[in-house]
Amino acid sequence: MDAARLMTLYAAWKMDKFGQQAARKEIGMIKYFGAQVLYKVIDRAIQVCGGLGYSGDLPLESMYRHARGSRIYDGVDEVHRQTVARRVLKDYKKPEGIWPTDHIPTRREAAREKFAHLLEQFTANA
Ligand SMILES: Cc1cc2nc3c(=O)[nH]c(=O)nc-3n(C[C@H](O)[C@H](O)[C@H](O)COP(=O)(O)OP(=O)(O)OC[C@H]3O[C@@H](n4cnc5c(N)ncnc54)[C@H](O)[C@@H]3O)c2cc1C
Repeated sequence: MDAARLMTLYAAWKMDKFGQQAARKEIGMIKYFGAQVLYKVIDRAIQVCGGLGYSGDLPLESMYRHARGSRIYDGVDEVHRQTVARRVLKDYKKPEGIWPTDHIPTRREAAREKFAHLLEQFTANA
């Protein structure tokens, strides 16, 4: 719940500071994350109350239906996730070649090439 609250405040701060366009990733994140937190919290509250929580005698049952809807009516979770993923990936570029940037054998080989003169010098003096 704290994570959802802080993510909401951060998205709101970013909207105020840089405008809605700049905060689209954060808005997308809170739309699906917040909706899931809401759903899980109400689900837990129903569980705690047992049969009474599931009945119409408490407001939890109607909250549960509304919370479930929140994962659909403002855009389904999957669409928000895709929007966020696209925006996150936009900040990265594909590495050259087939390996990830931190592939150790590739980096070792590059380092060997880069420092070949030093290695040669060092091993010659050894
Ligand atoms: C209570 C309620 C109130 C609503 N109020 C409004 C309103 O005020 N104004 C309004 O305009 N609309 C409203 N809607 C409609 C709402 O916007 C749509 O229900 C919502 O956008 C999902 O569209 P859909 O129902 O056609 O589901 P679909 O788009 O058919 O999605 C069904 C499922 O398919 C999957 N899916 C869909 N797209 C993707 C994707 N790109 N990638 C992966 N999986 C995917 C997901 O699992 C998704 O749950 C409301 C809906 C509800 C339930």
